[in-house]
Amino acid sequence: MFIVCTKKMIASICYFCMLILVSGVLYWSTQVPVSACPAEQFCVVLDAGHGGIDGGSQGKTGVFERDINLQITNKLEKLLKSLNIIVVQTRTTKEGLYGVFASGFKMKDMQARKKIIEKANPDLVVSIHMNYFSDSSVCGAQVFFKPNDKTSKDLALNMQNLFQKNLKNAKKSPKEGDFYILTCSKSPGILIECGYLSNAEEEALLLSADYQDKVAYQIFCGIACYFNLKNQPKIG
Ligand SMILES: [Zn+2]
Repeated sequence: MFIVCTKKMIASICYFCMLILVSGVLYWSTQVPVSACPAEQFCVVLDAGHGGIDGGSQGKTGVFERDINLQITNKLEKLLKSLNIIVVQTRTTKEGLYGVFASGFKMKDMQARKKIIEKANPDLVVSIHMNYFSDSSVCGAQVFFKPNDKTSKDLALNMQNLFQKNLKNAKKSPKEGDFYILTCSKSPGILIECGYLSNAEEEALLLSADYQDKVAYQIFCGIACYFNLKNQPKIG
């Protein structure tokens, strides 16, 4: 018995090949090429949480944290670069890092972030998020630090202090955070919940460019201070 290849069959095979090819290119294009950071300069991996189909939490206005995370991360990147700090971003577009959407995409996305962090081997990982809670009165920025890591905890304490002084409603204390993005590498790290999208007042603040600038600046000050305290001649 032999199979007769009809034009229709060939067309569908070609279509299938095209799909694989496009999927491959899409997957490849979402992977940020990263090399190890130079030893003589401080290096930070900035991680804008979520992305693509994964919008994260959503405010009443319809905004997703995915987008505010990226806006604040981009502002922070500019500030850090002004101090000659090397910045590696896990994502620079609204897309996630999972490539083609399929089941298990969240795991793929997180593993891609881990790969970027491991390759960069940074002095610090900073992940940016927005919070959400069923009680809409709850608000305030809060820093979470890598579990059982004194360096991360010290940074978080200092940064939370800055938040308290300079950001409306900020929480009093930082918290230990058992998040994959913090535990997936040996680098110290913090995850910052910049505020609650479930709180209308804070959502409005987080949507404004001025407040985003303010948040980015406080995070920047915390990081700059942290590197300064390490007393290494990396900041020129
Ligand atoms: Zn989040």
